[in-house]
Amino acid sequence: MPRIFSGIQPSGELHIGNWLGAVQNWVNLQRSYESLICIVDLHAITSKYDKDTLAQRTRDMAIGLLAAGIDPEQATLFVQSHVPQHSELQWLLNSVTPLGELERMTQFKDKSQKFESVPAGLLNYPVLMAADILLYRADLVPVGEDQVQHLELTREIARKWNAEFGRGEDFFPEPQPILAEAKRITGLDGQAKMSKSLGNTIGLLDTPEEIWQKLRPAKTDPARVTRKDPGNPEICNIYHLHKYFSPPETVALVAESCRGAKWGCLDCKRVLADNMIATLAPIRERALQLQEDQDRVDEILADGATAARRRASETLGEVRDRMGFLPARGKPAVFDEVR
Ligand code: ATP
Ligand code: MG
Repeated sequence: MPRIFSGIQPSGELHIGNWLGAVQNWVNLQRSYESLICIVDLHAITSKYDKDTLAQRTRDMAIGLLAAGIDPEQATLFVQSHVPQHSELQWLLNSVTPLGELERMTQFKDKSQKFESVPAGLLNYPVLMAADILLYRADLVPVGEDQVQHLELTREIARKWNAEFGRGEDFFPEPQPILAEAKRITGLDGQAKMSKSLGNTIGLLDTPEEIWQKLRPAKTDPARVTRKDPGNPEICNIYHLHKYFSPPETVALVAESCRGAKWGCLDCKRVLADNMIATLAPIRERALQLQEDQDRVDEILADGATAARRRASETLGEVRDRMGFLPARGKPAVFDEVR
């Protein structure tokens, strides 16, 4: 059975861009594929972060994913730092990763602008991502469009490692992306990608009031200065969001009312808010229940980590061997398990 790996950073609230672009695919595919879903906390420390809230944000991300429909009976849900083999494989893959490729990554160029002194972790982020995926020898990676470039680099790293150490076989499969229809949701600023770190999001677990407070000032077509000015829905993010939350007849009505200046932008946003609130209500309800039972959430993550560690140590044993390291005599399997 083909294997899926994907991850999400606990770098802020799980938002509708994550959900439409990636998480919905994880939920739909978990029935048909062996799935590993990872909360990538080691990635989250590559940007400025608050150490006092990291643990709770990690747990909250698990709650969000479970509420969205990740089923621990079907998928392995775990926290990256609970499986130390991710960091070890990253170090090993550094030896076949070209520095020039890391420097030309779009995400690195964007995110490094926020730093006076750029942490090396931000540059090496894609090597850790390659390690995440290759550690489970995953075939498919459901991600948003912004991660496609990193995945290309993962394939290059896999090819280079296979050529050097694969003993004539493709030990690491070259993982392919799976993109959702909503592969790039724009933020409420109408410009940048909706991103946890940019504060331009609507949270998957936001209350109806929060959804409305965020949608109300959201950017629309600038041509619509007053209600009487006609607009172009194609360049309005609110129109595009309708496509994911409103029925087709409403989407058609939105386009027509925008072009003909029949609705004001606020009318359009109110209809979107109502449909979004209704769509997300069951997810929010499940999350509220899970928040009452955080022990259960921690238990799910512990079980997930145990299953992931078992597979990870198998791969890593092979990798160490093929790369020529001296085995720790006697009990290499135990060596991996105790850590
Ligand atoms: P950060 O700002 O900290 O990078 P993020 O919102 O980009 O956070 P990630 O944890 O980096 O979220 O990504 C999780 C998954 O969600 C990835 O598969 C990513 O491609 C996808 N994703 C993130 N933002 C969007 C978006 N705006 N539209 C579609 N998919 C997205
Ligand atoms: Mg991101």
